[in-house]
Amino acid sequence: MKRLLFSNILINKEIKKRYNKSIEAFTLIQIRIITILTGILYIVYSQIDQYILPSNLMNIASSIHLYLIAPYGFLISFLTFFPKYYKHMISLLMLAPIFATAVNLFLVKDLVLFPIFMVEIYMIIFWTFTISGLNIKQSSVSIFFVSIFTFVYYSFIMPLPKELFIMHSFWMLCSISFGFVGAYLLDRLSKRNFINYEKLENLAITDNLTGLFNRTKLDEILNNELARSKRFSYNFSFMLIDIDYFKMVNDTYGHQVGDDFLVEFTELISNNSRSTDSFFRWGGEEFVMICPEVDKENILIHAEKLRQKMESHKFKTIGKKTISIGITLSKHDDTIDSLVHRADEALYMAKNSGRNKIVFA
Ligand code: GH3
Ligand code: MG
Ligand code: MG
Repeated sequence: MKRLLFSNILINKEIKKRYNKSIEAFTLIQIRIITILTGILYIVYSQIDQYILPSNLMNIASSIHLYLIAPYGFLISFLTFFPKYYKHMISLLMLAPIFATAVNLFLVKDLVLFPIFMVEIYMIIFWTFTISGLNIKQSSVSIFFVSIFTFVYYSFIMPLPKELFIMHSFWMLCSISFGFVGAYLLDRLSKRNFINYEKLENLAITDNLTGLFNRTKLDEILNNELARSKRFSYNFSFMLIDIDYFKMVNDTYGHQVGDDFLVEFTELISNNSRSTDSFFRWGGEEFVMICPEVDKENILIHAEKLRQKMESHKFKTIGKKTISIGITLSKHDDTIDSLVHRADEALYMAKNSGRNKIVFA
C-alpha cells in the first residue's frame, strides 16, 4: 500500500510529456465548466451582498463580485476555447485564488460579522486544490500566496483576537492539508490510470514474442496509408515475407528454438530496414513490411537486399534459412483486402517457383 501510494510514477520525461498532452483536452473542458460555474456563483454572491452587508460596503462588494470576479471567471472560460493561450489561461487561473482572497480581506476589514466571510477563503483553498483544473504544483503555488497574504493580513494589518486567530489558523491548516492530500491522490490516480491505459494499449497492438506491431496496428496503419495515398496520390509498398520451411525448425529442434529463431529473424530484418519502413508480425512465421513513397524499382532492390541478408545469415542452432517475398504497390482504388490479396498471390507464386524468391504483383 505504501509503495503504491508514494512510489514515484512517471519518472520518464517522455511519459510525463505524453501524460500532460493526454490530459490537456480534458483539463480545458474541466476549467471551462468550473470557471463558468464559479462566475455564476459570484453573481449570486453579489446579490447576497446586497442583503447582508451594511450600506457602506454593499455597493462596493457587490460591484467587485459582479463586475470583476465573475467576469474574470468568464474570461478564463473564454480562453479555454483558444488552446494557443493555454499558458496565459493557466496564469490567470493561478492568480484567481489570490485575487479572490485579496478582495475578501479588503472587503471585510470594517465588518463586525467578518468571521463568517473567512469561510470564503477556506472554500477558495478547496476549490484551487480539487476542482480548479490546476495541477498540484500550480495550485500549491497559488495557495502558498493565499496563506501568506492571509497570515500577514490577520497578524499585522488587521490583527485578530487571539482565540479567533488560533481557530482561523486551525481551519486554514485543515483546508490546506485536506485540499493538498485530495489533489495529491487525484493526481496519483490519474497518472496511474494513464500508465495502465498505455500498457493495455501497447499490449493490444504488440506481438509479445517479437515485440513488433501486430495485425491490429497494421490495419490501423494501412487505413491511414491508404487514405494518405488517395489524397496525395503517392505509392507505398506492401511486402509479405514468409519463412521457407519453417515448420521443419519446430519439428527438428522444438518449439523453443523456433521461437528464438523468430526473434533473431526479427532483429535481422529490422536492422536492415530504413527508419521509415514499418515491420509487423502478420501471424505465425509471416511478416509484413510497409515502405512509404517508393517505386517498383526501389522496392525490388530493397527486397533483394533483405533476401540476400537472410540467405547469408547464420542463425543460432539452426544455421541458414531463406525467405520468400510477395510485393505489391498501392493503387489509387485499393482497399486493405485488394492490397493484401495481390501480395498474397505474389507470395504464393514465389513459393511455387521454388522459394527463396521475390515476386511482384
Ligand atoms: P512454407 O515454406 O510453405 O512457408 O512452409 P512452412 O513450414 O514455413 O509453413 P507452414 O505454414 O506449413 O508452417 C508454419 C509453421 O509455423 C507451423 C507453426 O507450428 C509454426 N509457427 C507459427 N507460429 C509460431 C510461433 O510463434 N512459434 C513457433 N515456434 N512456431 C510457430
Ligand atoms: Mg513458411
Ligand atoms: Mg506461412
